[in-house]
Amino acid sequence: MPKTSILRVAVPSPLRRHFDYLPPENPTTPPQPGVRVRVPFGRRTVVGLVLELAEESDVATPRLKRVLEIVDREPLLPPDLLALLKWGSRYYHHPIGKVVMNALPTRLRDGSPIREPSRNLWQLSEAGREATAHPLNQAPRQQQLINLLSQAPEGVAEQEIRLHLPNWRSIMSRLKEKGWVVCREPPPISSRRTAAAISDADRPRLNPDQQNAVEQVIDAAGKFSVALLEGVTGSGKTEVYLRIIEQNIAAGRQALVLVPEINLTPQLLERFTRRFPQPIALLHSALTARERLAAWQRARSGEAAIVIGTRSALFTPFRRLGIIIVDEEHDTSFKQQEGFRYSARDMAIIRARDAAIPIVLGSATPSLESLHNAQQQRYLHLTLSQRAGDARPPRFQLLDMRHQSLQEGLSAGLLEIIGEHLQAGGQILLFLNRRGYAPTLLCHECGWSRRCNRCDTHLTLHQYERRLRCHHCGAERPVDLHCPECGSVDLRTLGAGTERIEKALQQHFPDTGIARLDRDSTRRKGSLQRLLKEIHSGHTQILIGTQMLAKGHHFPNVTLVGILDTDQGLFSADFRASERMSQLIVQVAGRAGRAEKPGLVVIQTHHPEHPLLQQLVTRGYRQFAQTILEERREAELPPYSSIALLRAESVDARRPMAFLEQAEHAFRELAPDEVVAWGPVPAPMERRAGRYRAHLLLHSGSRPALQQLLDRWIPRLETLRERRRVRWYLDVDPVDLF
Ligand code: ADP
Ligand code: ZN
Ligand code: ZN
Repeated sequence: MPKTSILRVAVPSPLRRHFDYLPPENPTTPPQPGVRVRVPFGRRTVVGLVLELAEESDVATPRLKRVLEIVDREPLLPPDLLALLKWGSRYYHHPIGKVVMNALPTRLRDGSPIREPSRNLWQLSEAGREATAHPLNQAPRQQQLINLLSQAPEGVAEQEIRLHLPNWRSIMSRLKEKGWVVCREPPPISSRRTAAAISDADRPRLNPDQQNAVEQVIDAAGKFSVALLEGVTGSGKTEVYLRIIEQNIAAGRQALVLVPEINLTPQLLERFTRRFPQPIALLHSALTARERLAAWQRARSGEAAIVIGTRSALFTPFRRLGIIIVDEEHDTSFKQQEGFRYSARDMAIIRARDAAIPIVLGSATPSLESLHNAQQQRYLHLTLSQRAGDARPPRFQLLDMRHQSLQEGLSAGLLEIIGEHLQAGGQILLFLNRRGYAPTLLCHECGWSRRCNRCDTHLTLHQYERRLRCHHCGAERPVDLHCPECGSVDLRTLGAGTERIEKALQQHFPDTGIARLDRDSTRRKGSLQRLLKEIHSGHTQILIGTQMLAKGHHFPNVTLVGILDTDQGLFSADFRASERMSQLIVQVAGRAGRAEKPGLVVIQTHHPEHPLLQQLVTRGYRQFAQTILEERREAELPPYSSIALLRAESVDARRPMAFLEQAEHAFRELAPDEVVAWGPVPAPMERRAGRYRAHLLLHSGSRPALQQLLDRWIPRLETLRERRRVRWYLDVDPVDLF
């Protein structure tokens, strides 16, 4: 048969394959890739998405079932996005049906019809204007429509007409028969509302580094290229993005901007709306399903010129995408940590490649992967070496905590420096990546401590709410008043979190505005905005916070940044810990001295002589990164190799290891020569939320070799006897080992 006879369909199922169906008997609309279909699946009817049309199936034809219904008249997803999803399913070895459903707005997953927003504009024709110039004896509803159209010579959108006249179509067709109206497509994005709504005077003059960065990316327009934009915080990266997008819009194309955090989107949005008159759509997880769908459709129809969003915004369909920007590309929240474990940054590069457009990865502290690619000349390396305007880089000082008297985690030396900066009228920012009051509650008599029942960890004391909480599984309970082992009431807290530091500061600097910025203090809606406002007004003089501080906020009056605890980053089992630690330090430090006041960064440590720390503070992030890249090369760790983790978990302590041992056996049977397996071993924190966890790490110097091995290995895992007794999943390019 020459014509298409098979539909390859992605069905929401954990099976790692597509399913073939015959087209419906009498399709009302032709099947095409990207449309949703209702299909029989097992005993149920499910909604799937057509991936491709084929002439033949691997399954014998009489056994094939028929599609029950084709849901969409037009493809929901364009071919480039379908290609991206197929790539993601293959590379991360995740079932295609799950990958596809993950990419669709929830409202569309159940097969609800999509209201195609019409892009048509209606206007009076020349003849129509003449004929209706004088009041005629029209049918009242025709007259109503004529009035509406005559008020808007540039045309009225169909959605708007519908608001005024629900049954407008039949009336319009009568006007059309008379030749009084014409219908047309709206003009492309760029010519809508003159692009130069912002005059040159309202934009800063680019410095030579910025100018060069913008030009290089613009020169690459219309073909695939990756640019790594490395610029210290405050060096004007965002300004570079804005200019590139401006040019892109002028060429009639849309832009996608990916950011790591929802908290970043409002600030960025404000800057973008001030600059661009064109519609901008926001996409992040805090939207309702309806808002998400609306934003998704505005991108798909081409109405939104710019989409700003977190990770999953990568799967937005566009009409004419021209550029992708990934801001803070080093941020690990671009990697999804559950279900479909993809890296939005890495997949964004694939999307840009398939769409033949440029992509810009921006960061003050680029990931080692991206630095390595830039050094291999795979990426264009653009650097902004100066802070924009007059701001100067901060000074670093290591503060030796050994032999110092400590007040709740604050050294006497640091308290003194804080005092000086307060005197001078500066603002102070203190960073501690641990919320709550104290991470341990301990009996001073017998040594008992309160642990989580479900995790291998202590409960953290939250003093304000008088609760003990597990930061890994969310379990909580009242604070113990006496020891359950020996009955003693002498219970003490060990270690310090942000609450404790806040309290210590209040005692030490009684008449000072002190605020805390962490997940607990910002849980309520609007509280983050309120906190930020108090900092900007100068009411808050000392701010203590977790890594939320490191993310993109501007605090122009900050003259001192104190980093309270870095030592765990120096001695962690995770090979990425030192990279993370340095990125955090540099990002937090970047909050200091962003305006005309110079900044000082003080790092408390018990290891001031540690070579990595020394290098970071004396020579900066780039030199530091060079050193750890060298270490990675010698240890054959990423980016000099590829890794994948097979993880397993179970409430039964022995099962994960039993499954992984079978998996390891299956691996050895395949006898791959370029891939090695390390383990299996229990996870660094073995029990979490009541489940025991273990993993097997696969390692290869060759990414293709690892992929080929996974292609052969995973079907075998699906037949292992122990697989039914565990929850198992694969994590390709994992960002942490916990
Ligand atoms: P980054 O994104 O690298 O942190 P921004 O683009 O936010 O840097 O710029 C930091 C500050 O400097 C902003 O207030 C911005 O308006 C300003 N700025 C950026 N580029 C210039 C420039 N060329 N001249 C003057 N000010 C600039
Ligand atoms: Zn006790
Ligand atoms: Zn727990």
